[in-house]
Amino acid sequence: MKTTQAIEKWEAQMNHIKTQLQKHGPMRPGSLSRQYNVCGTVGCRCKDSKHPRRHGPYYQLNYVYRGKKTSQFIRREILGQVRTELANYKQFRRLTERWIGLALKVAHARDKPVP
Ligand SMILES: [Zn+2]
Repeated sequence: MKTTQAIEKWEAQMNHIKTQLQKHGPMRPGSLSRQYNVCGTVGCRCKDSKHPRRHGPYYQLNYVYRGKKTSQFIRREILGQVRTELANYKQFRRLTERWIGLALKVAHARDKPVP
């Protein structure tokens, strides 16, 4: 394939990525973890000597933004929405990563002197 044809193909792929990004849904970075806690109440089930049943699960979201680690609890009612947002974020990263890869191919092809 000629260089110009290759560049056109990569540019078409980048345009496809741009279209996908335009209809991209709400997102947020991070990962969810499940936690079970022990409370301070005397005689509570969570401190039963034989079959302790700890409280939870509680859902905690951890993420890093601009180098700052943040952790927050997520209400069970919005868990589904948060999971969708986390998946959207991963998709966003995949798309932009692919875009960068294609942009590099185009740039390198244009770096070469015309024969
Ligand atoms: Zn308890």
